[in-house]
Amino acid sequence: MKLIDVSVPLDTSLAFYPNNLPFSLEAVKRLNRGDSSNVSSLHMSAHTGTHVDSPRHFFDEGSGTEALPLEMLIGRARVIELRTRTGITAADLASIDLSEDVRLLIKTQNSRLWSDPEFHKDYIGITESGAKHLVGHGIKVVGVDYLSVEVFKTPGAPAHRTLLGAGTIVIEGLNLRDVDPGIYEMLCLPLKVVGSDGAPARVVLRRS
Ligand SMILES: [Zn+2]
Repeated sequence: MKLIDVSVPLDTSLAFYPNNLPFSLEAVKRLNRGDSSNVSSLHMSAHTGTHVDSPRHFFDEGSGTEALPLEMLIGRARVIELRTRTGITAADLASIDLSEDVRLLIKTQNSRLWSDPEFHKDYIGITESGAKHLVGHGIKVVGVDYLSVEVFKTPGAPAHRTLLGAGTIVIEGLNLRDVDPGIYEMLCLPLKVVGSDGAPARVVLRRS
């Protein structure tokens, strides 16, 4: 059974969204300092690296990450690859048959950006028309391969609001560089952080 880990490593060389807390591992206790064990503290944003957005990210009354339905985060997923250099529109998605899909992972040039610790503002996000297309075609989980589903700094955050507002789960920060387009089984397990607008997740694909 071949597993493909599409999660990014959490370390200090991981790019982070502007003004979000970068990841760090703080040494609290260390054997080599004479402590009884090694114990670290983790510092990060709820939207660090590979993570899931909960409805609360854009809706105060929306549920937190503890309520994300795991049955939606595990199951058949389609990986597509788009060559567009700008925000993903409905036109970019129009030729793709989504009739049997509820989970869609979108591979773009973004996956190449992970090797750079610097954040790239020109990453490829989803436009409002693209988000509406996905919701209209019954997509319940959408995954993207950089730190936001939104085209950078789009006023009103229409992609987030359209997707989260429709109950579609958003997975951000996937690394799909080594994944060929096709059908997989996805296992995405976000941490059960009560009341949180986002939570880090380990995401693995398995060829079905
Ligand atoms: Zn997020």
